[in-house]
Amino acid sequence: MSRRKTGPRRTPAPAPAVTADTPCPCGLDAAYGACCGRFHAGTGATAPTAELLMRSRYSAFVVGDAAYLLRTWAPETRPGTLDLDPGTRWTGLEILGTTDGTAFHQRGTVTFTARYAHGGESGALTEHSRFTRHDGAWVYVDGDFPEH
Ligand SMILES: [Zn+2]
Repeated sequence: MSRRKTGPRRTPAPAPAVTADTPCPCGLDAAYGACCGRFHAGTGATAPTAELLMRSRYSAFVVGDAAYLLRTWAPETRPGTLDLDPGTRWTGLEILGTTDGTAFHQRGTVTFTARYAHGGESGALTEHSRFTRHDGAWVYVDGDFPEH
């Protein structure tokens, strides 16, 4: 991933097909710019539920927005830096279940499967993620990997 492109509007993207008008990578029936893109833009819009935050974080992996991933990470568990692997292409997200995580909660969980392709191989990652609020906005805490 190029480190020279640091403009505020475009993130160096391993999947350059994503634009404001293309379907959102998170799988909701909406254009990226009207869905996760409005949260990535950093203009103050934040995901109102833990599930939408999870979806926007998945989309951030797709478009290579490491800064968004870091700022939606709980300070207690946030890594110092995050290097996204440009060789990994995220190819789909399926939400398997949620608990709490609405506008009325302070915590929530989301269980999901994310599919990816890497070096000609495809795979899937299933994670049970925990979310909480930080300064009012949903942030990712950590996750574990349930056995099938
Ligand atoms: Zn989305």
